[in-house]
Amino acid sequence: MPVTTRFAPSPTGLLHLGHAHAALMAWSAARRAGGRFLLRVEDIDGTRCRAEYGAAIIEDLAWLGLDWDGEVRVQSRHMAEYRAALDRLAARGLLYPCFCTRADIAREVAAAGQAPHGPDGPLYPGTCRRLPPGMRAARMAAGEPYALRLDMAAALALAPADLSCEEMGEGRLRCEPAQFGDAVLARKEVPASYHLCVTHDDALQGVTLVTRGEDLKPATHLHRLLQVLLGWPEPRYAHHRLLTDAAGRRLAKREGAPSLRALREAGRSPAEVRALAGFATS
Ligand code: GLU
Repeated sequence: MPVTTRFAPSPTGLLHLGHAHAALMAWSAARRAGGRFLLRVEDIDGTRCRAEYGAAIIEDLAWLGLDWDGEVRVQSRHMAEYRAALDRLAARGLLYPCFCTRADIAREVAAAGQAPHGPDGPLYPGTCRRLPPGMRAARMAAGEPYALRLDMAAALALAPADLSCEEMGEGRLRCEPAQFGDAVLARKEVPASYHLCVTHDDALQGVTLVTRGEDLKPATHLHRLLQVLLGWPEPRYAHHRLLTDAAGRRLAKREGAPSLRALREAGRSPAEVRALAGFATS
């Protein structure tokens, strides 16, 4: 089967060299193999994402010399599809509403005297999982905002004990989704989450090789669990190193990494910018 890869940036700012590196990793993996390369704009968080950055992503990648197959998928246009996936999990009793604020969780964690952390932050102490059903229904009926959390223990009971993923160059790695605790799959302000949407779309779009930065490698543990629970196919993964600046800090807009646009305006050619992103062509 030909490989299908994707680049899936969030339009929270202009692309910088770190993004160019990630995009070129995915694009070259597909093109080398005569496969497909998809572009997806992950913009479900309306508080952080802006449409003009989505447009800039498309323009900057085209300037860089990348081409993609088919339409660009814009996640915010597909909220009903994510809702349907959540409904499938809810129908199996795997989700529960969580009314806690960050402050509530911090207080509970402090009171427990220990603060285990997962890849997404402090582990949720399970307060709302233990709410009596009547109380839960009353709070929902009163219009109190809530997130939807995965009941991790219930989910793990439905997954194979030896859950694993295929990391290119490393072989099969054991997955430990329990490290996320009861992960949020729909937020209070956004009725979905990164973890849900990314696994949904990779399955829907037939992505066979997920290439992305190594900062997202831990997320794969949870993504594999969601794939099993929702009956979605398993892609292979290739997590790449992140580009760093001269001081060894990973490139980030807030650390002053120059945008592709600024490099272009400073007179750099696409070939020069590709070389700066680690893709020199001889
Ligand atoms: N949208 C995510 C980000 O910009 C990346 C998603 C992924 O590649 O899995 O960090």
